[in-house]
Amino acid sequence: MEDNLTTERPTFVINLECGATGAEYAPDKIYNLSEAGKPLLVRYDLDGVRQAVARDDLAAREPDLWRYRELLPVRKARNIVSLGETMTPVIPCPAVTRSLGSGEVLVKDEGRLPTGSFKARGLVMAVSMAKELGITKMAMATNGNAGAALAAYCSRAGIDSVVFCPDDTPEINVREIALQGARVYRVNGLINDCGKIVVDGREAAGWFETNTLKEPYRIEGKKTMGLELAEQLGWDVPDVILYPTGGGTGLIGMWKAFAELGALGWLGDKRPRMVAVQAAGCAPIVKAYDEGLDHADLWQGAFTIAAGIRVPVAIGDFLILQAIRESGGFASAVDDAAIEDARTEMAAKEGLLLCPEGAATFAALKQELASGRIAKDERVVLFNCGNGLKYDMPPADDTLDLNAPIDYAAL
Ligand SMILES: *Cc1c(COP(=O)(O)O)cnc(C)c1O
Repeated sequence: MEDNLTTERPTFVINLECGATGAEYAPDKIYNLSEAGKPLLVRYDLDGVRQAVARDDLAAREPDLWRYRELLPVRKARNIVSLGETMTPVIPCPAVTRSLGSGEVLVKDEGRLPTGSFKARGLVMAVSMAKELGITKMAMATNGNAGAALAAYCSRAGIDSVVFCPDDTPEINVREIALQGARVYRVNGLINDCGKIVVDGREAAGWFETNTLKEPYRIEGKKTMGLELAEQLGWDVPDVILYPTGGGTGLIGMWKAFAELGALGWLGDKRPRMVAVQAAGCAPIVKAYDEGLDHADLWQGAFTIAAGIRVPVAIGDFLILQAIRESGGFASAVDDAAIEDARTEMAAKEGLLLCPEGAATFAALKQELASGRIAKDERVVLFNCGNGLKYDMPPADDTLDLNAPIDYAAL
């Protein structure tokens, strides 16, 4: 029987588990980190899910992320705070594929989501769960898109929101956050400095800390990228996924998604190689990967035009490194000039306007095809995480003077 957003329905959450120690926590309570100070991961009764729904039942459901509701944490449908979290297209790039002489290149275009980025997937889940758990005030550090999504969903849920961002965050992000109802403050520091304000203010301001991976549900929302991609590829996965990695929520989430689909028997044994893409000016995960470490050190002096991946320290570093190693993937750093070139090339060749972070994945693909770390026969998915229109673009200055003759042949 098909239900809808107003129906009560069972969920299959058994408990939450510390991502580092495996210690278990009872569901239906408000949590930030585990006692070990690590992210909590949601565990499901997958046998129950298998009995409740067949893989092929999904095809008849609405084309949004709630089609995977049995694998999501919200217990009461009335707590879902939706703005229409549509499935995003997987777009083939035939011209780029031809010119690279590579395996098929696909772009999953996350810029179609509410608030123009894949942060909507994470925050719709975090805010819906906050509503379910009775949280009334949420605070967050952001490089822009996460704050916009928090503001939008909190306004819709009637939850108070406060956002802190570096003072050089893209102007459009700061303004959309304000317009969508949050109080937003520009801070003369980086995202980790903003994060500390959120932590330090918890008691005096009475807000719930919503920093990346500091609450358990954002990752469940981001997980739907993996569920959706597998379904869209006919319950298969690509050979390689290139993911622009800041806090790593999406990479960790997709790896979790593939594990859950495998355990359900909805996906075969094949897994994609997960590649974490970072900017050369802020590449803590790449450095830790290259040095064989399990944790990443704070990156000093972080800079890049790709604001969404300017994250000097990630609390889920060990989970990112674990996922890329388990998958046979790696971590790759690209410089800002390569990111700009990649954005220009994709727009001109395919008509696809990537955000800088999405362009970083294309730059990394080119770099790693050349290095041999990606083979010429591997089918690759690039994540375009935000709408390209949200970012500065190179000027276009050609003019025509109506008072002079127009040389049509030269246009
Ligand atoms: C947040 C963000 C990222 C990084 O995503 P994580 O899953 O937190 O690593 C990349 N690009 C854009 C545009 C973002 O907003």
